[in-house]
Amino acid sequence: MFSYRHAFHAGNHADVLKHTVLIATLDHLLEKEAALTVVDTHAGAGLYRLDGDYAGTSGEAAEGILRLLSEKKAPAAPAPAAKSATKKVATPEAEAPLADAIARYLSVIHDFNPKGGARIYPGSPFIVQHLLRDHDKLKLFELHPTDARTLDANIAQLEAGRQIAVLREDGFGSATKFLPPPSRRALVLMDPSYEIKSDYGRVLDFAAEALKRFATGTYAIWYPIIPRPEAHDLPRRLKTLATKAGKPWLHATLTVKSSKLTTTPTGETQRPGLPASGMFLINPPYTLKPLLAAALPQLVERLAQDRHAAFSLDAGG
Ligand code: SAM
Repeated sequence: MFSYRHAFHAGNHADVLKHTVLIATLDHLLEKEAALTVVDTHAGAGLYRLDGDYAGTSGEAAEGILRLLSEKKAPAAPAPAAKSATKKVATPEAEAPLADAIARYLSVIHDFNPKGGARIYPGSPFIVQHLLRDHDKLKLFELHPTDARTLDANIAQLEAGRQIAVLREDGFGSATKFLPPPSRRALVLMDPSYEIKSDYGRVLDFAAEALKRFATGTYAIWYPIIPRPEAHDLPRRLKTLATKAGKPWLHATLTVKSSKLTTTPTGETQRPGLPASGMFLINPPYTLKPLLAAALPQLVERLAQDRHAAFSLDAGG
């Protein structure tokens, strides 16, 4: 069985990127009155305590949501020349107002923490449920027995009745059964743990099958940017898939530090932890690109851990 538990990673820089994009996308889709179905193929436990053992052990939220809340600025080291699509942020815009997408993300986190801070961190199921209207639907897939049980218990507290379905099923294998939904409006979030390298191929197969069944759905896929060929290839292959299907796409990445191994003063080699991640969307809202163009430089500025921090934003179709 899997060992990945999202509780160790909740609120990290990857969640900041993913949930900022998720909220901006949902806000747009919810402007239309017609019902929306959200399918979360890899839901996690739904709700996390950032002052609990898991998050405390990893400390990842301290470099993500907690850092964003404390508004610490990036180290002002000069950046080397940037590659064409990747932009470094050399000079912190100290006085710039917070970009709308970040302010909106923080307002949602605040809704779960009315006294301030981020003791409670909402995962994608709770973020989505918080924004949905009564006539919208949410389908949650989670396979890990412990997380599925916690998700069930967390969702039960919402007393949302038939609006939310929790399925202890393989999100890759069976989430397409909800496509297209009766209202023909859906957002599918795919956020696997990529614990096994076949996850990358399964994301692609899922997206191809989903597009065949429901070409006008919005698909949002998170992936880690790590030194692994499958991770490198995934956005390229998604781009090809979207282009061949004649669908618009958007690709945003956030890097917070170098991916190079480091050596400690005692001579031990250290892995850097997750240095970067990306969101790839097929049929993104047209409003997303300008929102991210304003937000990503600020995320780099606020979440940078070294001079390799950068973002990229690309769209096509
Ligand atoms: N989407 C969540 C969020 O943003 O709060 C985090 C999800 S976490 C990155 C990935 C989850 O997928 C883990 O809880 C893992 O147990 C679950 N998982 C792994 N493989 C799965 C599969 N084939 N189907 C459904 N869930 C799976």
